[in-house]
Amino acid sequence: MILLLSTVIFPSGAAAKNPLPSHSNEQVAYGAEGMVATAHPEASEIGAEVLRNGGNAVDAAIAIQLALNVAEPMMSGIGGGGFMMVYDANKDDISIIDSRERAPASATPELFLDEEGNVIPFAERHISGDAVGVPGTLKGLMAAYDEWGTRPFNQLINPSIKLAQKGVEVNSVLADAIADNEEKLTKSAAGKVFMPKGEPLKEGEILVQKDLAKTFKEIRKNGLDSFYGGEIGQALAKTVRDFGGGMTRQDLKNYELSFDEPVTGTYRGYDIATMPPPSSGGLTVLQMLKMLEGFNLDQYRVRSPQKYHLMAEAMHLAYADRNTYIGDTQFVDVPMEGMLNEDYLANRRSMIKFGEANNNVKPGNPWAYQEGQPIGAAQQPDDREIGETTHFTVADKWGNLVSYTTTIEQVFGTGIMVPGYGFMLNNELTDFDAVPGGPNQVEANKRPMSSMTPTMIFEDGKPFMTVGSPGGPTIITSVFQTIVNVIDYDMHLKAAIEEPRIYSPTYPQIRWEKGIPANVRKTMKKWGHEWQSSPGEIGNVQAIRILRDGSYIGAADSSREGTAIGLNKTAGKK
Ligand code: GLU
Repeated sequence: MILLLSTVIFPSGAAAKNPLPSHSNEQVAYGAEGMVATAHPEASEIGAEVLRNGGNAVDAAIAIQLALNVAEPMMSGIGGGGFMMVYDANKDDISIIDSRERAPASATPELFLDEEGNVIPFAERHISGDAVGVPGTLKGLMAAYDEWGTRPFNQLINPSIKLAQKGVEVNSVLADAIADNEEKLTKSAAGKVFMPKGEPLKEGEILVQKDLAKTFKEIRKNGLDSFYGGEIGQALAKTVRDFGGGMTRQDLKNYELSFDEPVTGTYRGYDIATMPPPSSGGLTVLQMLKMLEGFNLDQYRVRSPQKYHLMAEAMHLAYADRNTYIGDTQFVDVPMEGMLNEDYLANRRSMIKFGEANNNVKPGNPWAYQEGQPIGAAQQPDDREIGETTHFTVADKWGNLVSYTTTIEQVFGTGIMVPGYGFMLNNELTDFDAVPGGPNQVEANKRPMSSMTPTMIFEDGKPFMTVGSPGGPTIITSVFQTIVNVIDYDMHLKAAIEEPRIYSPTYPQIRWEKGIPANVRKTMKKWGHEWQSSPGEIGNVQAIRILRDGSYIGAADSSREGTAIGLNKTAGKK
């Protein structure tokens, strides 16, 4: 990652006085009256305009999700699901609308096994109709609208209808995504949309999505019903079946959201609210932070071998538990209490040694720290590719906050577009274990384990920061490292995001971002770690810091072309 604007330093927690241009369409912005940070400039602008027109953070978030469906169609949309975390400033309360995709009623634990009982290879199973979960995103948006929405719904969806009709300029991220997925897109109606002249659209060309505009108009007119059982739902279910899946219109009618409480913990005096199961993200972030709390991290330089060693060791221990114990809590018991028990984590921490990587990491036994029975985990083939999705965050002048990670799983999901309706179908069910037997096995109506980790942090009871990222299982470590950079290293939000990250779920391989010095890598090799041969990008963090006076710093990650837009009185109305 390139360290952008690293010279813009704010004293942590201090009331910075408009330290940036009042309306800054950049990757970092200051806003006294509101903030949006998303992975796409059009979506950020549409969200900011909702705030300028008097909408609140949830109004803006709804408009942003719809806009991302248009501008970043390979990452999220109404054919997928997500986790929307909302801080309601009035009630001083956090809620989560969980619109995670569910398996259809016909799904069984053997869904991803062939007739001989062998696991269907990932390359095959991720593009099949069987991979499509019943989408929850639109229902989630409407539930948020019913609870918090203040602007007429037309105002939230119209900008996206316009964008889809008029066209959006293809940026480098979308151009690469189309080129990389040419084959899978060609198999469905998506081919004509993203390759209108037979060739992948290139950067700078215009992507027009007339069918998607039509679908959004139908939703504007007839609301949820047309999707969950009506015209759109019928077409969706038929498409899934055409591609070999078992989804029916009834599955869409039956789809249910859940309204979750965050899982909470503390880190060096800060209160952390994060994502509970079916996400593995919150428990794993909290475990890693608690393990690190036992070390004075800030005595080591931010790019020191000691810091990366401690992080990698904490990752190995936490991911061993993650891969063993987590599933959808509507179906299985997850030892959440045990996993976050201080004595249990002190015991896990004691397995971290200096100068030597632990080459024998096993899951712990959190069930010994709470009541209940363990469920055996099945051995899984390590064939899943890491997906991509999108994270965005919004803050308004009333102090409400949204931290929202939303997905269709792989880039362009299954590659299947609902013909005539212009949206992509997820392949979220590949997040289930393919081998039956564990807490994350496939079951009818169940939600696959996720890694998405929308998070909010509080200091002395007041909002301090929102954070989240895409990147499949790497999400958890991107969120973790951004938090550590801000809290332990007192880094400016943008610098904390740009600081090179690592990802190491199991001993000894470390995936890493450019910028980790060769001598640091060499030292850690001596301690038993192994580095991937070349660096690559990990995640795409969007975050907001809430300053003591209630104003905001927002930042978007340079790994995509996102922007943060701050709202300030002086900016006036556009
Ligand atoms: N399917 C992933 C999850 O729920 C999200 C998509 C991604 O970023 O990989 O963890």
